[in-house]
Amino acid sequence: MKRTDYISWDEYFMGIALLSAQRSKDPNTQVGACIVSDENKILSVGYNGMPIGCNDDETPWEREGSRLETKYPYVCHAELNAILNSAASLKGGRVYVSLFPCNECAKAIIQSGIKEIIYLSDKYADSDDTKASKKMFDMVGITYRQYILTNRTVTLPL
Ligand code: ZN
Repeated sequence: MKRTDYISWDEYFMGIALLSAQRSKDPNTQVGACIVSDENKILSVGYNGMPIGCNDDETPWEREGSRLETKYPYVCHAELNAILNSAASLKGGRVYVSLFPCNECAKAIIQSGIKEIIYLSDKYADSDDTKASKKMFDMVGITYRQYILTNRTVTLPL
């Protein structure tokens, strides 16, 4: 008899997105992304972090203050990192991400050919950035659905 309590594809890929988020050094927001093909092959992963070579001890992680003293001009979001990290074409793929994509990542997602977004949190749904993301996704026919937690807990011996 084969196992019946194996994790679903959605649990697997969202799990990988959440594990990737644990690599983030951002003290406030840890986001992970996992891009998969229509054959359920993992094409790329990413998390939010400073660009390669930018010392993350010298770049700020603040959310408030003058713009140059905040993380915002510097940090590279999880989805953008996952897109840029990939050697393969992402056309027709889907992205699992722990937070709904901002408008900048939405543009990169559209240009990469990704066709579906599966997100966990949409906590900035009322922001203009997220509204712009949804407006663009709707215009180009990219679908998005919220991942519903299954209440399964996976413990990894690290
Ligand atoms: Zn973004």
